[in-house]
This record gives sequence, C-alpha cells and structure tokens, in this order.
Amino acid sequence: MTLVDTPATTTGGPALTQERRLVTAIPGPRSQELMARKAQAVAAGVGHTLPISVVAAGGGVVVDADGNSLIDLGSGIAVTGVGNSAPRVVDAVAAQLNAFTHTCFTVSPYEGYVAVAEKLNELTPGDHEKRSALFNSGAEAVENAIKIARHYTKKQAVVAFDHAYHGRTNLTMGLTAKNIPYKSGFGPFAPEVYRAPLSYPFRDGGLDGREAAARAILQIEKQVGVENLAAIIIEPIQGEGGFIVPAQGFLAALVEWANANGVVFIADEVQTGFARTGAWFASEHEGIVPDVIVTAKGIAGGLPLSAVTGRAEIMDSAMAGGLGGTYAGSPLACAAALATIETYEADGLIERAKEIGSVLIGRLNALRTADPRIGDVRGRGAMVAIELVDPATGAPDAALTNAVAKFAHAQGVIVLTCGTYGNVIRFLPPLTISDELLVEGLNVVAEGLKQA
Ligand SMILES: *Cc1c(COP(=O)(O)O)cnc(C)c1O
Repeated sequence: MTLVDTPATTTGGPALTQERRLVTAIPGPRSQELMARKAQAVAAGVGHTLPISVVAAGGGVVVDADGNSLIDLGSGIAVTGVGNSAPRVVDAVAAQLNAFTHTCFTVSPYEGYVAVAEKLNELTPGDHEKRSALFNSGAEAVENAIKIARHYTKKQAVVAFDHAYHGRTNLTMGLTAKNIPYKSGFGPFAPEVYRAPLSYPFRDGGLDGREAAARAILQIEKQVGVENLAAIIIEPIQGEGGFIVPAQGFLAALVEWANANGVVFIADEVQTGFARTGAWFASEHEGIVPDVIVTAKGIAGGLPLSAVTGRAEIMDSAMAGGLGGTYAGSPLACAAALATIETYEADGLIERAKEIGSVLIGRLNALRTADPRIGDVRGRGAMVAIELVDPATGAPDAALTNAVAKFAHAQGVIVLTCGTYGNVIRFLPPLTISDELLVEGLNVVAEGLKQA
C-alpha cells in the first residue's frame, strides 16, 4: 500500500501535497523570526532538532511558515504513526470537543477511558486477565508502573539497563542512563534505582542473548538481591539509547528469571508500541509476555495520552485513589486513541510498517556495503537506525552523525539522532509516508554521508 496524498479531512482541511519543496534556506526568515521570539520567551533548556515554524503536517511531510515542505522521517519522535491530523482522529476529537472536554475520570467517569482500557487489555501481549490505567505522558506512566510494582511486591528496588531512556521526571531521570542532556545538574535522583548491563550485539564482543542475560542477572543478584527487587524495566528495543535491538533470547531469559523470582517485568514500549516495529508491540517479536507494559507516543495520533497495562492482580493491588491525575485519560485523548487504533487496524499500518522496514533496511544495508563508516544497520519495522563509526577502530563518530543530520535538515529532511555516544541516526517515519518520499529522504541522507 502506498499512500501518496493525505486525504482531505471531513472538517475541510486541504490535502497537503506530498513533496519535498524548498523555497528558502532552512530555517527561512519566518522560522528565524519565531526562533528570535522563542529565545526571549521560552526557557533555553527547551531545545530543537530543527528550528522551523510549523504550520501544517500530514502524510509524510511537515510544512513551515516560509512555505518549505520537509520530508518527515521522525514522526515527532514516533508519535504520529497514523500521520498528522489523521482523518478519523480529527473527526473523533472534534465530536468529543463538542460533547464535553473534561470531567476528571476520577470524579465522574466516561466511556472513552474504559473503551481505551479494554482495547489495551486486548491488544497487549498475553491472554491473562489485565487491567489498564491511563496517564498523560510516557514518563508519568513509567512512574506509575513502578509505583504499582512496588505496592504489589512490597519491595522497593528497581533495575534499569545501560543506555535506557524512561523520561525526564525525577524517578525517570534516575532510570535514564545518559547524563547529558537528561540528568546533569538535575539531581539528586530517587533512591533504590540500580543499573544492569544490556545486550548490545554491535558492541558486546559476540555475547549471545542468554549469555548477556546471565551477565545482567548475576550483577542484579549480587548487587541488589531479588528479596529487595520490585521490578526490572526495559525497552524491548531501546529508543533514545541508540535503537539497540538486544540479542535474541536476552529478553526471554530476563522474563523467565523475573517470573521465577517474584520480580515484576515492565516493558517500556513507549517508543516501540503501536505498529511501529511491524507488530502491535515489540515484545511480540521476542515472544515475551511482560507483566506490565507501558505505552504512550503512538497511542493517540499526537494527543497526550499514556497507559500502564498489566496483570490484573498486579494492577489491582493499589488502593482506590492511589492512581490517577487531573487530566489522566482525558476524554479528548481517549477519543483520539480509539480512532488511532481503528486507523492502524483499518489501514493495515502494521503491514505498512513492515514494508517501510524493508525499504529502510534494504537501502541502508546497500549503503553500508559501500561505506564502512556505517558500522551497523538495525531495527525492526519502521524503527531503524544506522550507527556511525571510525572504520579503523569502531569508535563512535558523533561528529559525522551531526554533519549528516545537519545536511539532511538543510535539504528539507527531518531526521533524528540518538545513542549514548550520539552516533546513531534513527528513522521513524509516519506509517502514512509514501515510498517515493521515503526513498527521496534516504537519498538525501546518502548524499550527506558522501559529502561529510
Ligand atoms: C519518550 C519516551 C519516554 C518518555 O515519554 P514522555 O511522553 O516524553 O514523558 C519513556 N520511555 C521511552 C522508551 C520513550 O521513548
């Protein structure tokens, strides 16, 4: 399936021409004007990958105030899987806006929240009885997953992994591995958070999944102890940490060990969830069934929503009133989520993510054969990255990575970088992008590599 144009919305929005079009330098004068205002009004810590002034987006493009149309290979960090202003989402949110905007679910509930919970319980891995609770952001959901695991196990310690990213709130900063820009100077961090080694096939010297899991488990048992350990939390494919796909068997061994030791296994699928990797959830590729799964980003077509879904006995442990939040599971976000999930299903977007993956992996592997600075090509579905290195030593090459990303941005292609060493370019296109735009975007990246 190739979607060439964004369908016009029933609310009358025009379809955006699906093309890369540069009419000014990037950023153009209007974008620069906005950035000047921004510098005077917005805290400097709120940075930008690409300092443009967005006025519209849809399909596979983002349009700025200067009339430039950029190819979107980032989806606002894996959020707009169904595309921007997806027609079903627009209609559902508009209807909800006209009915009511807020009551607070914990004051006077509404059906949308319950329907989203039912959907999550049905779609997430495992056919055990489940419950869900809704929140606003990924970090907030991660915090709640850990609250719940602690309450259920009556234990306190939590283990996260090398290269992990779990958010920017205090507890989730502590869980996150990378110092700059996420942690430096923002401490002290929450206690009882420990770190274990990951499986990182490209840099692991040949450790297989079971061996890497044994290494992590030994460290956890010696340094933390299962009698103190409430939960381990891990991204099935690490996002900000560098799109690291652990060796096969690593996750399964951790789940097995957690189940045997009264430790709650939490999968942070905030970035990997909702069709992105060519499955509803990345856990499915490894055949694992997490006790608790955290979702956000791709869940609601861009509206702020996150969720914790897990085994009923774990989720039901917390006392009434112990979970919630004023805006948590907002009726607008719930309406968006239901329409988003329907869109993934009705438009075959899981299949489309796999097709996008073959285009990405095929093209990037071809580049790698000819260019030893591409040390690794990895990922699943529409979540793929290249790791750039010094070919002689294998050392991470962050300077090259930044040069290629900058080139792509100037040429009107939105790409994101990531990785603990800042040497990974990641591709997260909306699942509504056409093959033509995707290939054109990759051509620009290839040209950037050539010129760097
Ligand atoms: C983005 C992300 C988070 C944090 O989500 P926010 O909505 O930004 O708070 C947590 N975990 C993972 C894996 C993420 O990619």
